[in-house]
Amino acid sequence: MRADVGARNFETWLAPLSFLGREGSDIHLSAPSAFLADWVATNFGDRLRLHFARLRPGVRDVCLRVATSVADAPLQKTDSGSAPALVPAASGSAAVPGLSLPLEPRYSFENFVVGKSNELAYNAALAVAAEGAPGFNPLFLHSTTGLGKTHLMHAIGNAYLARHPGARVAYMSAEKFMVEFLAALRAKEGLAFKLKLRSVDLLMIDDVQFIAGKESTQEEFFHTMNEIISAGKRLVISADRSPQNLEGIEQRILSRMAWGLVADINAADYELRLNILHAKMAAMPNKVVVPDDVLEFLARKITANVRELEGALNRITAYAALVDAPVTQDFARERLADLLRAHERKLTIDEIQRKVAEHYKLRLADLLSARRARDVARPRQVAMYLAKKLTPRSLPEIGRRFGGRDHTTVMHAVKRIEALRTTDREIDADVLLLTRLLDS
Ligand code: ADP
Ligand code: MG
Repeated sequence: MRADVGARNFETWLAPLSFLGREGSDIHLSAPSAFLADWVATNFGDRLRLHFARLRPGVRDVCLRVATSVADAPLQKTDSGSAPALVPAASGSAAVPGLSLPLEPRYSFENFVVGKSNELAYNAALAVAAEGAPGFNPLFLHSTTGLGKTHLMHAIGNAYLARHPGARVAYMSAEKFMVEFLAALRAKEGLAFKLKLRSVDLLMIDDVQFIAGKESTQEEFFHTMNEIISAGKRLVISADRSPQNLEGIEQRILSRMAWGLVADINAADYELRLNILHAKMAAMPNKVVVPDDVLEFLARKITANVRELEGALNRITAYAALVDAPVTQDFARERLADLLRAHERKLTIDEIQRKVAEHYKLRLADLLSARRARDVARPRQVAMYLAKKLTPRSLPEIGRRFGGRDHTTVMHAVKRIEALRTTDREIDADVLLLTRLLDS
């Protein structure tokens, strides 16, 4: 695992795990906290499973337990939108026994928010789950991580099962596919495995980039795919890149995949990000109030992918509920400091001074001058306050940049504006507006 995920990841996330034992085909590990267990399950679950299965024939699953909480309780899925836990939940669905993970009921078409960047993928997914034959097969979904591929696959499965109760639906990650396939081969059950796969009505294989370069699995995957398609069964495949960009996959597999519909999901734009946040808020069980300006702040700042966006919202609301504090932009900024830092563009004191001067229709020279008239002094304090809040500069440094003022002057300005923001609506609105302008 160290070689696979890198020393830093390994030390942070995997070294704290301890080995509890093996029970049949399951490996049991314990984690010091639910957070860590959840993180490992989400980010390293498939890799762990794969490596264990390689080293110890017969291993099929890795279960994480939280060491300090109720002993032996299987890791529960949180409602935080994280990936499925490693332990398959008890399932009443018609999932194919011994083949697929149960579908996630919380991933549906209804709670998938549609925008320009994902509407093709969404409509194609709807077509796969619809009554008649979709007119294309397979559906190949691709995007970078966290943009909704897995969500759409589960939504297809759920909708299809709702329409065809008792249908045989299989969903699995490509790694799971490999693990199952290799285990079956070792147990001399290769044929049964193939038959089982080919008996499904709808097969969905997630993250096929992991199959690339693995010859024997690729071969099997290809045959299965061919037969599923030829038999008129529905097939959905996802990957983190387009078919052409998958390396180490044979040409004939590529062309077979390209026969169907290839739909990509692009990064969500601001509007979609905001819509998603509103939708997640509406669905949230805990009734923490998150004002619109904070949602807008999140939509503006967290652009990488929807998983991060959702994670940020969950972190804020969970923490606010815990400490019973109102959610403000400052609160969000503090709680998400690590996340924001990673994306933060370096904002300079210069930029802050220029924007503030512009906003109050002052000359920059006035802002930095020694003049103490209220109409200059107040904007100057706002600028100092913003410099403190939005840059990592120290008080003495900020003082120097404001015409060589003392650090106590800066401290006074910060306190003054902080106090005024609670009593003076106009100042508060100015600060919010300026923060937004400077952020974007
Ligand atoms: P991928 O498989 O592409 O890495 P996921 O399907 O796991 O991404 O999505 C990550 C998280 O973001 C999930 O919790 C999912 O519900 C959520 N998500 C992604 N796109 C949307 C969307 N358009 N509407 C609602 N939730 C979304
Ligand atoms: Mg996924």
